[in-house]
Amino acid sequence: MGDSWPPDGETEGNASKNHREHSSSMPPGGSDWPNAFARQVRMIAMAVATDAAAGWRVERPNLLADVLRYHGLEPDRVNAVATTTDCDNTGQRVCLVRRHSLPARVNPDPESPILKMEHRMANSEPVLLLGDFPAITRSAVTTLQVNLGYVCNQTCFHCHVNAGPNRKESMGRETVGDVLAFLTRGGVRTMDLTGGAPELNPHFRDLVTRARALGIEVIDRCNLTVLGQPGQQDLAVFLASHRVAVIASLPCYLEENVNSQRGDGVFEGSLSGLRALNALGYGHPGSGLELNLVFNPQGPELPPPQAALEADYRAHLGSRYGIVFNRLLTIANMPINRFAKTLARKGEYNRYLTMLRQAHQDANLEQVMCRSLVSVDWQGFVYDCDFNQMLHIPLAAAGRPRSHIRDLDPASLAGGTIAVGDHCYGCTAGQGSSCGGALA
Ligand code: SF4
Ligand code: SF4
Repeated sequence: MGDSWPPDGETEGNASKNHREHSSSMPPGGSDWPNAFARQVRMIAMAVATDAAAGWRVERPNLLADVLRYHGLEPDRVNAVATTTDCDNTGQRVCLVRRHSLPARVNPDPESPILKMEHRMANSEPVLLLGDFPAITRSAVTTLQVNLGYVCNQTCFHCHVNAGPNRKESMGRETVGDVLAFLTRGGVRTMDLTGGAPELNPHFRDLVTRARALGIEVIDRCNLTVLGQPGQQDLAVFLASHRVAVIASLPCYLEENVNSQRGDGVFEGSLSGLRALNALGYGHPGSGLELNLVFNPQGPELPPPQAALEADYRAHLGSRYGIVFNRLLTIANMPINRFAKTLARKGEYNRYLTMLRQAHQDANLEQVMCRSLVSVDWQGFVYDCDFNQMLHIPLAAAGRPRSHIRDLDPASLAGGTIAVGDHCYGCTAGQGSSCGGALA
């Protein structure tokens, strides 16, 4: 925490007067003090301008950490950020220049006044280009990622969805119909089902059955323990009989690490799920039943090289538990929702974002998943990817600031601008990261 300002002995009650008296001396950078007029506002000095001709400064305040530090609150989202000019009674001249950008955690609801203001300022297409991540555009859309809802039987600490047993959001029958209609319009070859635990949606099996009848490849992002949930004992058989590819989370081959990230007993439950899938042929060469495992780091670091780690997984899971699988996919933790809060609580949020940014590889830009995938939420609204969905950054198309799947044709999406932000460095850092694992 920075030095407090005004110095000791100057109280909130006379702050207005005190600031005027201190107009000849600036508060030190990093200091903070009560606002003269509003008790819920905290003033923070980012830096001190010692040389007026020194040029522009770029400041990257961590709003989430600041709210946590000064107000003791952990907001799920930021609905708006106000930028104002105010010299706080110091008698100084102030000037505000606003860039066409918003912090990654701002909720750009198309109806919000702040988004409309951004549109007016940009006077261009209603897509937010956030932070300084390079601009990218979409190629042909071949995969539809469907988030069936945020209900999950687990509450993993790295979850970018904030999923859990108490969530209520779940895709309804009508929206499932909209998804199937979208698939019939052509172009999409793969439907990638995610959540929460997608299998807990009551329409999961109907959606899978009807999509497979259309000739669509189906991927189920399975947390493994759901296979042992009440009412799901026949789930593995259902998946196998519909030739559904399974991508299963297993963030380590060591019990202690899995349980510390995903909850007590999850490792054992995951092994049970893997054994059930293996018994049906999943993961065995030539079976045609694909079983890929997903690794993500325990904390704020990048995944290790994918091929070497896959060899370790294969050796350990094979020799110790007799488990087989096809591929290991390494995925970076995204600084979103529960993982972002954990970072902020530990004071590591900025360091993690800086690490991702410094590890950025331009070569990964060509293969980030949003080039060929769009994501639909439980209500049918469409996003460039599941991460943008969680950040409430909508996909703009056909002249609309946000799009519903019932109004979209896959072919019309090619060439569209992708809404990027600082979180996107999680996809391009190091060997890269996508729903299909490393990019490099
Ligand atoms: S990471 Fe997956 S399994 Fe864990 S809480 Fe989130 S959706 Fe559920
Ligand atoms: S988070 Fe990754 S997939 Fe999503 S828009 Fe950014 S680069 Fe694309």
